[in-house]
Amino acid sequence: MTDRAPSVFSRIIAREIPADVVFESEHVIAFKDIAPQAPVHLLVVPKTEAYANVAELAAGDPALLAEVVATASSLAAEHADGDYRLIFNTGAGAGQTVFHVHAHVLAGGLTEGTLAQL
Ligand code: AMP
Repeated sequence: MTDRAPSVFSRIIAREIPADVVFESEHVIAFKDIAPQAPVHLLVVPKTEAYANVAELAAGDPALLAEVVATASSLAAEHADGDYRLIFNTGAGAGQTVFHVHAHVLAGGLTEGTLAQL
């Protein structure tokens, strides 16, 4: 248990705030980023907010991290041509603003040779 307020993603999972949900399973949810930075910009989020970042998730529940990656791959095939960029911002200095681990899935017309600024 935590005494922190629920993350914005937990509030989306609880349907307390709206989101454009594109996939949901027992352990994972995916929805469109509210401020897209690519033609396809989805967030894949474990339903638990026990892990703040991808390193914590990898150490604590590698199977759940694998499900996040598999979900990202499936969604890139469904929403674009199957190629995608997977980004886990880790730490405020890297641009992380929501400390509930999430994968950015960027796809569709990405510029080769650059990394998106997130
Ligand atoms: P990060 O900066 O890596 O922590 O990513 C957080 C992402 O969550 C940003 O790309 C935001 O645009 C996105 N975001 C924040 N609030 C919402 C929301 N209510 N619905 C969808 N995406 C959101």
